[in-house]
Amino acid sequence: LLCASEDFDFFYFVQQWPGSYCDTKNSCCYPTTGKPAADFGIHGLWPNYNDGSYPSNCDSNNPFNQNKISDLISSMQKKWPTLACPSGNGVTFWSHEWEKHGTCSESVLDQHGYFKAALALKNQVNLLQALQSAGIQPNGGTYSLSSIKGAIQGAVGYAPWIECNTDASGNSQLYQIYLCVDTSGSNLIECPVFPSGKCGSEIEFPSF
Ligand code: 5GP
Ligand code: 5GP
Ligand code: 5GP
Repeated sequence: LLCASEDFDFFYFVQQWPGSYCDTKNSCCYPTTGKPAADFGIHGLWPNYNDGSYPSNCDSNNPFNQNKISDLISSMQKKWPTLACPSGNGVTFWSHEWEKHGTCSESVLDQHGYFKAALALKNQVNLLQALQSAGIQPNGGTYSLSSIKGAIQGAVGYAPWIECNTDASGNSQLYQIYLCVDTSGSNLIECPVFPSGKCGSEIEFPSF
């Protein structure tokens, strides 16, 4: 019996800090279900290649279907909230993530498995607690990039990648945190390759 092997090398598991999505000059909109908790939220689980490139939109015959994940919706509203405008209930965001990224790992995880894997990773990795235990609080203060990375590496056991964006005044701030996951979608691994993009050596951690 031949099994198709997966056509990607690892996943990036990406979480976003809502305060940093919202304080840019574009601003944000809270979901129709209400203001999310002041915690990192899931952005996505993205199949990637070891050379840094990645597949996208792999199967237009496998569209997002909310009925397949009805048991996960209430957790997704809490852990995977959308902050884009206009306000939505999350379905547009989740549908985008499934169709662009999730369809590229469908040989390993079907829709239910894909969203369940992302939720399980979120429960496994408490980034806010890791930062707060190291005295790094979302209070608008400025922290060194190396202290942020060290706090996460120490708590999670793997080196993260930090993506920054800029607030309305142009300050570099902590926007997204990337960790790497094996092709099963269950186990953290050291990243085979890191994304690129600049942060300052000192970055802001805004409140939400
Ligand atoms: P941005 O231009 O905001 O960095 O990225 C836009 C979108 O491209 C991301 O939200 C994600 O969907 C995708 N993307 C960006 N960088 C990567 C990457 O390194 N790997 C994968 N798989 N997707 C990425
Ligand atoms: P990616 O960057 O993964 O390709 O996809 C991000 C897409 O999802 C964009 O079209 C963006 O407008 C939409 N989106 C909806 N809600 C959110 C959110 O809370 N954060 C981010 N980064 N994108 C969101
Ligand atoms: P090093 O390998 O010496 O830690 O860093 C090399 C360069 O990459 C430095 O400019 C450093 O600021 C940048 N860098 C290291 N880690 C990260 C990260 O997680 N995110 C971003 N955006 N840049 C980083």
